[in-house]
Amino acid sequence: MLKLKSIKKDYKTGDFVQHALKDISVSFRKNEFVAILGPSGSGKTTLLNIIGGLDRYDSGDLIIDGKSTKGFKDKDWDAYRNHAVGFIFQSYNLISHISVLENVEMGMTLSGVSASERRRKALELLDKVGLKNHAYKKPNQLSGGQMQRVAIARALANDPKIILADEPTGALDSKTSTQIMDLIKEIAKDKLVIMVTHNAELAKEYASRIVSMKDGVILDDTDAYDDRNKKSGELVVKKTSMSLLSALKLSFNNIKTKKGRTALTAFASSIGIIGIALILSLSNGFNQEVEEFESNSLAQSPIIIANESVQMDEETLKALNKDSGLEEYTNKKKVYTQYDLSETLIHQNNITEDYVDYLEKMDKDDISGISYMKGTNIQLVDNTNGYHLVNFGSNSSGMSMFPEGDIASKNYDVLAGKLDDEAGLILQVDSKNRASARILKPLGFDGEEVNFSDILDKEFKIPANNDYYIKQGNYYMPATDLEKVYNSDDAITVKIKAIIRGKEDKKVVTNTSSLYYNSALVENVISQNKDSDVVLAQKNADYNVLTHQPFDENTTKDSILGYLGADTLPVAIYIYPKDFETKDNITNYLDDYNKGKDEKDIVQYTDMAGMISSLSGDIMDAITIVLIAFSSISLIVSSIMIGIITYISVLERTKEIGILRSLGARKKDIKRVFNAETFIIGIFSGLLGVVIAYALTFPVNMVIENLSGLAGVAKLNPVHALILILVSLTLTIIGGAIPANMASKKDPVIALRTE
Ligand code: ADP
Ligand code: MG
Repeated sequence: MLKLKSIKKDYKTGDFVQHALKDISVSFRKNEFVAILGPSGSGKTTLLNIIGGLDRYDSGDLIIDGKSTKGFKDKDWDAYRNHAVGFIFQSYNLISHISVLENVEMGMTLSGVSASERRRKALELLDKVGLKNHAYKKPNQLSGGQMQRVAIARALANDPKIILADEPTGALDSKTSTQIMDLIKEIAKDKLVIMVTHNAELAKEYASRIVSMKDGVILDDTDAYDDRNKKSGELVVKKTSMSLLSALKLSFNNIKTKKGRTALTAFASSIGIIGIALILSLSNGFNQEVEEFESNSLAQSPIIIANESVQMDEETLKALNKDSGLEEYTNKKKVYTQYDLSETLIHQNNITEDYVDYLEKMDKDDISGISYMKGTNIQLVDNTNGYHLVNFGSNSSGMSMFPEGDIASKNYDVLAGKLDDEAGLILQVDSKNRASARILKPLGFDGEEVNFSDILDKEFKIPANNDYYIKQGNYYMPATDLEKVYNSDDAITVKIKAIIRGKEDKKVVTNTSSLYYNSALVENVISQNKDSDVVLAQKNADYNVLTHQPFDENTTKDSILGYLGADTLPVAIYIYPKDFETKDNITNYLDDYNKGKDEKDIVQYTDMAGMISSLSGDIMDAITIVLIAFSSISLIVSSIMIGIITYISVLERTKEIGILRSLGARKKDIKRVFNAETFIIGIFSGLLGVVIAYALTFPVNMVIENLSGLAGVAKLNPVHALILILVSLTLTIIGGAIPANMASKKDPVIALRTE
């Protein structure tokens, strides 16, 4: 059933060639006990390894069951070893980190026998060799003879037709040797057993045939066999394959024997993950914090449409650089015009009636408030301590327009009075109920403190233009007789209708004091004055009727008309969005207006909050990226480390690789075993990293809270955690792939020889 035809095998070491087998031709019967006898170095092991498919012959042919092995591929040899051959070695070659039972099962594990069947068969075999009670021990808890019995049981596991034993009793005392030989003889009853020995007595006593070798040739054969006329069936063997689960189990058991090292490795390689996880949880938290801040305050800072807007886009800046003449600086004897920055950068917004109509059609649900600023002069006259104009001075903000809409109730607490549509003034105090002296004094409130009721009761008058502006030739002068102006029936009576204060959580934008008028008051003033003498005069004049000066950039006809209370278009519009989403709706709506319009008809808006938030978001992102880049270096270092650790493990497990290969493991299976090892370490270090990072968020949050008062900033996003575990896994698998590949390419014969 086995036939060697002119088998030759040389070993080259440098220039030296060792002819280990020189033209060996021999045949074996289906059932016999052959002893190969010969001095050390005569080529016995080499012959056995070639017969067992562990080593390859250089020339000649090995014919198994009538089939030439010349065309055998790796997988054919693997299947042959697994199903047709059982090896017994002098040094037992058991895998030390798994149990006796699992050692016996290994060959079946590789050929995909079910777990329960494996167990049953292995226990049966262990019973046969007299070791049933030792099944769950580790090999190193057994004596030499017991270990060899385990090896015999393992060799029998897949019911091979051939048992190859290489000096099976070489390491045993004579009494144990006899027991082992009896066992092998028993097996040989229905198998082909080829046993290498240099013990002639043992050979004579047990073997049915003795083949003597010396220096790579057969000297003598006591029962040579000529099978020329014998026909044999084709060799049929199943392919072997180790399941992923078996590889994982094997590596897990191996890892268990070096817990300390594995834990340290996993910890070291988790440091990168910890770093990145912490950075992500911090930037996560900060972004959320910033977003919250923005939606609380910045989102409600208005989108401003003024009659001028600053263009800051790239194109304008480029064009500007060109205009400055710098690029044409060629002739040192010339002077070049430098254009005014503002002229190029500032866009004149043409706010038309169409535009105002367009704004009125905007979805009211998006807006929390809107103000149309008309530049109408609201001139208050007071009569405490004599009639006088209320003058807030030039350096104070004076009065401004209060936005319309629910922004008021959202952002302010009403301390006294009412916030309704009725015309009137509104006084805002700060969080400590203070109002600036620059507001209170001009209004006639001189004391350290003023009662709400005093403020709400006080009356002012806004004079009618026809009373206030007195014609003097070509222009108009303010009246000096304020008593008459004050008491005129046409004067508008006005009160401070409400005292308000910014809500506590909105303190960022509104913790100041100011005085507002509402739009109803402006409308009253306009309807009173739009047809007044001074307005009509200004409409017809091509100079400023108040100063008799020509118009200029700041005092245009329109601006003076607006100031005087003519019914003009707004000079600026403030739109207060509800929140960030509606803000996008608003800006989109405003952008739509400009589509397809000429440059001069375009109306640009300024979105301060948008600029700030996109800037802060960008900075946050940049910092996060830089920090992650730094941590990634430690990730790369750790994956290199995993590579080294796996490499060391490959070196340590070389023997095991040889054993697995002798049992029929494919190169792929060996790769699997080591990939499984890195897989376990990768998962473990990823999990460890995420858990440690999560644990660290607590002290980190405490520190941040102490420093900044922000609580619970660092938050580990579960999605990030999952991704990081996968990243750790991928990197460790990449790191371990090279050594795992190396392991799979190891020559099984050399691997078995290593100690
Ligand atoms: P035996 O088992 O009979 O003691 P071997 O088959 O192990 O002998 O070795 C036969 C010869 O081949 C010896 O001279 C040995 O040094 C040589 N040899 C065996 N394996 C190798 C190898 N991998 N590289 C180089 N020489 C080897
Ligand atoms: Mg040998």
